[in-house]
Amino acid sequence: MQTAYTKEELRSLLAPVRGKRIVLVPTMGALHEGHATLLRQARVLAGEDGVVVASVFLNPVQFDNAGDLATYPKSPAQDSETCDSCGVDVVFMPTPDVMYCADRSITLEETHLSSVLCGASRPGHFAGVCLVVNKLFNLVQPTDAIFGKKDYQQFAILRRMVRDLDMPITLHGAEIVREADGLALSSRNVRLTPEHRAAAPAIRRSLLAAAEAYSAGKDVQIVCAQVRGALESIPGVRCDYVELVDAETLHDLTDPDRLALLAVAAWFGDVRLIDNIELFRA
Ligand code: AMP
Repeated sequence: MQTAYTKEELRSLLAPVRGKRIVLVPTMGALHEGHATLLRQARVLAGEDGVVVASVFLNPVQFDNAGDLATYPKSPAQDSETCDSCGVDVVFMPTPDVMYCADRSITLEETHLSSVLCGASRPGHFAGVCLVVNKLFNLVQPTDAIFGKKDYQQFAILRRMVRDLDMPITLHGAEIVREADGLALSSRNVRLTPEHRAAAPAIRRSLLAAAEAYSAGKDVQIVCAQVRGALESIPGVRCDYVELVDAETLHDLTDPDRLALLAVAAWFGDVRLIDNIELFRA
């Protein structure tokens, strides 16, 4: 595996492989088994002849909360080892100064899917995501990119970006990787108190119970209220949102025959966790 710290290093490492399948997996580091799964999927997708590129970049532009950025876990040496062991060919590890010009003045805003769910409570977050992913796409020029469905809204918005801007890149959504007790893997899980870590699998349990209620025909509002009630009965837990929406538009589900998404964001103390489940009416 080779490591690029600058855009120039990245370009020269990729120059000889232009024309091959190039699969990109963007990450913010503090890699866990969820990321590793995406990297291994990228290796399979690229095949023997293709190239897997991972980026490890804690993107300051997508953080709406300075405290969250400051406390975000970092483990660059371990991240390198993880990338290597998952078959990554090139890892790109820029600093913010390498990535952004100090007087940058272009923004990239998706205006429909970003207005709901996490976008409603994290102003500017998805514009920051679109900007950095667009830059990574320009630098790497991948044929394919893999994103996790844990960040379902992010995946939906990036799919829209690729469609609306005619980017010649195929996006792949990877299923959520979980702990044995059901908690979705997240770099933020290490910041949970032991009590909240023990309680957090309630998110998955309440989503599964809601999925059953929904497929049995229960009213959408009641299904969401059940999830909220179950989570907010845990001391120190407050839901940011619990919403059942159309899985593609992320807005109201007007056609019950379409794929739905039940998405939740909840504060466990000062740690914000997200999870979701795709739903069909039976
Ligand atoms: P992040 O480093 O949090 O930006 O995540 C990088 C990529 O890994 C994103 O596409 C995430 O959706 C994905 N990812 C993070 N956690 C998981 C997980 N538990 N399961 C599947 N994908 C994940």
